[in-house]
Amino acid sequence: MRYAITPPEPAVLPIRGTDARFPVHRIYCVGRNYAAHTIEMGGDPDRDPPFFFQKNTDNLVINDGNFPYPPRTEEVHHEVELVVALATGGRDIAVERALGRVFGYAVGLDMTRRDLQAQCKKLGRPWEIAKAFEHSAPCSELVTVDAIGHLDEGAIWLRVNGEMRQEGNLDQLIWKVPEIISYLSGLFELAPGDLIMTGTPAGVGAVSRGDALHAHIDGVGELHTTVA
Ligand code: MN
Repeated sequence: MRYAITPPEPAVLPIRGTDARFPVHRIYCVGRNYAAHTIEMGGDPDRDPPFFFQKNTDNLVINDGNFPYPPRTEEVHHEVELVVALATGGRDIAVERALGRVFGYAVGLDMTRRDLQAQCKKLGRPWEIAKAFEHSAPCSELVTVDAIGHLDEGAIWLRVNGEMRQEGNLDQLIWKVPEIISYLSGLFELAPGDLIMTGTPAGVGAVSRGDALHAHIDGVGELHTTVA
């Protein structure tokens, strides 16, 4: 194969305990998947079907790299999320077979230009400018299912400059991980390397240049990033 231009670097995540890397195929994100966050965003937390958007694989920030404050916004919000990484994919995956597709888990941030998202919602436009910009997806190293098993519950939180801003528990997910995988696989053909950001608990808020963000999920790990 001879490329006409230099091909892009593949997007990869580190994996705890090995120097092998996890190659990323797509990044799917779930909207409004914790009741308290749904309410703070003006929604109704009954069990409506989940909805999805995507980020670009080259939006990932790995190894606790900085989050550069993005252009064309004055309101960038943090959203701490459990990230699910798939080892295998498929279509129309049954709920009871879904966890068998999971390679591991990570701590992620769905950084959001909230002011642009509000405009998109108002005008009925797509969300890419709010969600899928450069460096919008800081992500920790992956921990494998072999190492930690699956996660039904556990604290998920985010501190900004040491102060608690978001606090929840994985047992508050409206749509659980197997249900998300199953539902998503009816819409898309899932593939090895796909990541799914599973939604954020309440307490989202704006960040400023210089802020130190520390995200945590019990059993999964830590993610640190500084707003540069
Ligand atoms: Mn989110």
